[in-house]
Amino acid sequence: MSQAQSVELAAVTKRYDNALAVDAISLKIKAGTYCCLLGPSGCGKSSTLRMIAGHEEVTDGDIVIGQRVVNNDTPAERGTAMMFQNYALFPHLSVAENVAFSLHMKGVARAERLARAATMLELVSMEDYAHRLPNQLSGGQQQRVALARALMTKPSVLLLDEPLSALDPFLRVRMRSELRRIQSELGITFIHVTHSQEEAMALADLMVVMNDGRIVQAAPPREIYNAPRTPFVARFIGGHNILEDGDRTITLRADDLAVLSDAGASDARRRATVSEIEYRGVDVRIGLETEAGESLTAVIGERAFFDQPLTPGAVVGVGWRTDAAHVLTLDR
Ligand code: ADP
Repeated sequence: MSQAQSVELAAVTKRYDNALAVDAISLKIKAGTYCCLLGPSGCGKSSTLRMIAGHEEVTDGDIVIGQRVVNNDTPAERGTAMMFQNYALFPHLSVAENVAFSLHMKGVARAERLARAATMLELVSMEDYAHRLPNQLSGGQQQRVALARALMTKPSVLLLDEPLSALDPFLRVRMRSELRRIQSELGITFIHVTHSQEEAMALADLMVVMNDGRIVQAAPPREIYNAPRTPFVARFIGGHNILEDGDRTITLRADDLAVLSDAGASDARRRATVSEIEYRGVDVRIGLETEAGESLTAVIGERAFFDQPLTPGAVVGVGWRTDAAHVLTLDR
């Protein structure tokens, strides 16, 4: 495999005609990082990825891979490879020939390219399927083949555009851990676009939250979960309550709210009515409407909830430790 490379975006902008899709974003991704670009549909993730790949021109700013500005390089010259959402395998070629296709283009002899494809198929646990045609494979298997094919060019940076979105939930979780394993085995840089916060949190060393063509926050997932920078980030990653507290806007994790059966308890900061109870197996989600008209969500461990079960309509107190409140910066 080739060496991992760092990727840097320096005030990168993308316009389509007059529409601003990516607005002067700057980001440094260290070599060997698993980076996820996360955000709602239309926020500019794919445009950013395609500009790194060289499939889309940069309107302004620089893309730097390793020490080199690559704005004018072809995709092949950049040392990147892209894995697409639809796997785009050649239907008439066997799995092995699909994986070896880039070597075929380079004129590598058949025996050698099949031998190299076999090694790559082993990496993605598909060595027993080398002779099949793509339509004889499940979606998850086709995706492994597409991954092997992208890795065949020995990229120093692998770009993945919503690679798991076509899979059913069970396979998605399995492939997610496969991706993580392969990335750490190869040690190369992965940049993975997703709109799923769960996927980004599970995979990323560096999670980049985008909104409206800009980067709102870039940090390790745990840092983002514990200290979302803005109300948008807190809402997007989920599991948070946003409240006005005096003249500040704060966020509180749903699992940091205490629901007190005595609404007048001295540690109650709000009085609220239980609006909803949702059983989720490992825990219970409680919807609360405060007297001030705020909607809050508390999450309580399953056993703790059933020690003192509540029902909708109950009037309760809601408390939290002072240090659980995290102050947000208002969105621009
Ligand atoms: P995401 O991947 O986050 O969904 P995209 O990068 O695909 O976002 O799109 C960002 C914005 O740019 C959207 O408003 C989208 O409609 C627009 N856009 C994307 N591709 C094109 C294109 N080829 N021509 C014109 N507008 C585009």
